[in-house]
Amino acid sequence: MKCKDFLKELNEYLDGNIDVQLKTELEEHLQWCHNCFVVCNTTRKTIEIYRDNEVYPLPDPIRDRLQQAIVAKCKHKHDHSS
Ligand SMILES: [Zn+2]
Repeated sequence: MKCKDFLKELNEYLDGNIDVQLKTELEEHLQWCHNCFVVCNTTRKTIEIYRDNEVYPLPDPIRDRLQQAIVAKCKHKHDHSS
């Protein structure tokens, strides 16, 4: 699983709306990918904050910004890894 795939499923993962197989793959990704781990935690916290305030759903701009940041970071790492 790549970061892009992870981020695509992140919402479903946080909602708990995914099948066990996919959930396992996502959690495996979190084991070694610190970037996605951070994004996952941040997104979850953001969702919780909004839920507490009874504001819903998670605003797209925040999610988009998080996802762009993580994708850019991963790309950057790849560019310099060789
Ligand atoms: Zn990742």
